[in-house]
Amino acid sequence: MIIFNNIVGFKNHLRKLKNDNVKIGFVPTMGALHNGHTSLIKKSVLENDYSVVSIFINPTQFNNINDYKSYPINISRDIELLDSISENIILFKPDTEEIYSGKVVSDSYDFGDLDKYMEGKHRKGHFQGVATVVNKLFEIVSADNVYFGEKDFQQLRIIEVLVQKNGYKLNVIRCKTIRQNDGLALSSRNKKLDISSQNIATNLFKALSFAKKNFDTLDLEVIYAKVEDLLQNFPQISIDYFAIADENDLKPIKHKKKNQKYRAFIAADISGVRLIDNIKLY
Ligand code: AMP
Repeated sequence: MIIFNNIVGFKNHLRKLKNDNVKIGFVPTMGALHNGHTSLIKKSVLENDYSVVSIFINPTQFNNINDYKSYPINISRDIELLDSISENIILFKPDTEEIYSGKVVSDSYDFGDLDKYMEGKHRKGHFQGVATVVNKLFEIVSADNVYFGEKDFQQLRIIEVLVQKNGYKLNVIRCKTIRQNDGLALSSRNKKLDISSQNIATNLFKALSFAKKNFDTLDLEVIYAKVEDLLQNFPQISIDYFAIADENDLKPIKHKKKNQKYRAFIAADISGVRLIDNIKLY
């Protein structure tokens, strides 16, 4: 596997490959790779000639400095893992200076109301930071297909809008959430949880599953109340939000309408670690 830390070397390499009219897939990540990431990477490897994987922990998307400083890093294991997947992976792992050239700030983007709810509301500036880095990466990588996980569904929608607004010739491929057998969505942050906290964290998926199972038959208020009851049994869980929202505009709903696609979203702090998850309700 070829590894680049700087933009110029990476772009030169890509330019040479692109001369052969090859298809490039791109999987942006923050590293500490797990099977959720590798599902995206394997899909990209199958669907493209070469796959660029970026590992960059983006400072501008963290609204909490401790969360940024304690974000899990395991680059040697990540490299081993990528090496074992395919020879056609190119790893791009720039440092902050390479990406931000001394100006570590977000650009300003208008996503309408898409970033006003849920993560956008609870993590001020988060999506401006995400859009800033993703935009920079898209300009560097110039891929044909880019892979994002539904695990971060609001992020995925925002990227889809970013691609559309900026007129990038880039297919955004939605990839399903990969879970442990007990339902817990894989996340790099799970590494910060001890075994008993991981067990408690499975209740987020239980709450989402309850909403899915009862969505057609129970009133929304009843679902909201039951989810709150269920999670209140665990003092280690502090809920940021539980919301049922339209999958397209992400606006949390008070009443169901027929033939709409909804998802249930949850974010909670578990023993000091913030986790998010969502599930489709159709
Ligand atoms: P991250 O490293 O957390 O920024 O994630 C990089 C990409 O992997 C994003 O598109 C995430 O949505 C995706 N991802 C993270 N966890 C999972 C998961 N459990 N299943 C599927 N995709 C995931």
